[in-house]
Amino acid sequence: MTRRPSTAPSPAEPARGTARSFRVLVTDEVDPEGVELLTAEPRLEVDVVPTLPVPELMARIADYDAIVGRSATKISEELLKKATRLKVVGRAGVGVDNIAMDAATSLGVAVINAPAGNTIAVAELFFGSLLSLLRHLPAADASMKAGRWDRSQLLGRELHGRTLGVVGVGRIGGEVAIRARAFGMRVIGYDPYVGDARFQGLQVQRVTSLETLLDSCDIVTVHTPLTDETRGLLGKRELSRLAPTSIVANLARGGIVDQDALSEALVAGRLGGALLDVFSAEPLPGDHPLRGLPNVILTPHIGASTSEAQRNVAVDTCVAVRDALLHEELGRSLNVASLDGARWTELQPALQLARRTATVARALLADKGIRMVGRLSVRLGVELTGGRDAFLAAAALGALEGVVEAERLNLINARAVAEARGLEIAVGDVADVEHPAAIEVTVGGGMESVTVAGMAPQGAAPRLTRIEGFRVDVAPRQTLIILTNHDVPGVIGRVGTLLGAAGVNIAEYHQARLRQGGEALAAISVDDPVGQELRRQLLELSDLRSATIVTFPSA
Ligand code: NAD
Repeated sequence: MTRRPSTAPSPAEPARGTARSFRVLVTDEVDPEGVELLTAEPRLEVDVVPTLPVPELMARIADYDAIVGRSATKISEELLKKATRLKVVGRAGVGVDNIAMDAATSLGVAVINAPAGNTIAVAELFFGSLLSLLRHLPAADASMKAGRWDRSQLLGRELHGRTLGVVGVGRIGGEVAIRARAFGMRVIGYDPYVGDARFQGLQVQRVTSLETLLDSCDIVTVHTPLTDETRGLLGKRELSRLAPTSIVANLARGGIVDQDALSEALVAGRLGGALLDVFSAEPLPGDHPLRGLPNVILTPHIGASTSEAQRNVAVDTCVAVRDALLHEELGRSLNVASLDGARWTELQPALQLARRTATVARALLADKGIRMVGRLSVRLGVELTGGRDAFLAAAALGALEGVVEAERLNLINARAVAEARGLEIAVGDVADVEHPAAIEVTVGGGMESVTVAGMAPQGAAPRLTRIEGFRVDVAPRQTLIILTNHDVPGVIGRVGTLLGAAGVNIAEYHQARLRQGGEALAAISVDDPVGQELRRQLLELSDLRSATIVTFPSA
């Protein structure tokens, strides 16, 4: 049995037995609307606690299947190692800097965040800060509260007719662009990673270089992630291209705009102003020169700090954590093969088939005397190629379970575990795969290899279609018996009688042969377990050459 989420029963195969329940620890004041989604589930036992001191968290974590928190709780490698039951870490927010991601992946713990719930909050803050700067709102408010009436000193500027340059036209960049157009601004955008259609849909004029954008805009705002490529994206050289009245905004991540270069340019009067919600080091030091500049609007990383955004990210995260625990839906996990949630659900039967196909191939290889799998390759029909990483992971899981310690083995870490064991893993080309929804798995060791194929067309139950050279048509359900025999009369009857006498119910019996009187193969799907004694009795039947029993893990 795997302890982490593995693969749910396929739609064709309802789960048997009692559904298990899970314990969830919720901390860091995650919004109650999200928490309620967890507590509403009878199979989830939820403990809500304030941010715990590290020693207390360490002492408690081994009791939980999932933890949901915000940035205050650090999910360190040490904690993850203690968390022997943990399957999911939910981060109600975007950044996962507080989570030891590599350790989570190698331990098979899914990490889920909520990247979209605070998009609007950041977009709105951008305009709040921008209007504050252009209309001197902080100074106006402070002077009023100080008893003054400084009307003549508060001449502002308008957004209308100005050009906004958006660097990074993703979720937030897109929402900023939409709102900028409502203000009558001209919007230009630079994002080499998105297609023309997105620019057209947002009515943003595409520019193909950052330099062109800087040369043509009045206000530049960055909405990219912080990566090696974007660190210092707006440095001294880039800032010097801007007109002296320009405004620079960074509400994305500290470091995308070089803070020192920006500070210098502002002090020297080479820029009109800046809007900053994020900083190279947070909190910004109390005596930092930026704090003394009148033409800068500073906010303490509050882009996502609206009650709506907190609720959105809590709901998004809790839904994803719930589905990961109850339905083994890992499409929202950051550290599992990249499939979005909808694709994940849609491909679940096919992933299950890939896993079971590999299990069958590995069992046949073992019965040929090769227990150590050294190679695993997967070929996919064109409909499935988009999920190749997920299929490789599923096949690796099928090839490993029952062979390696399964305690911490699941779809998240199966590939890493396989590679760490020296398995050569590959996805082959699809040119001659027989069906668009076909999956073919080959496992090999030494000089031997075994290929098993199946098909998982949408809306139909997955089937195994080929076992080595034999065409079959059988659903890989609880237990599969694979027999090879000489193609002579009477074998099917003898096998049926023996299984019947042992109380094993046959769900499907598919007999295949290469030629009359030659080698034949039977793939028999049965509803009951088949033990070693029954296998021995099968092998004693005359004309039977081999008997492989494959028992699929239920989840
Ligand atoms: P997103 O992934 O939807 O969009 C990012 C965009 O940046 C993508 O379209 C990508 O193609 C583009 N990009 C990447 N590298 C680029 C490069 N070198 N040049 C130009 N474009 C590039 O992300 P999002 O949800 O819109 O978030 C944007 C940023 O805002 C992130 O850094 C995020 O962490 C930050 N954020 C800040 C707060 C806050 O509290 N201030 C809250 C939420 C998000």
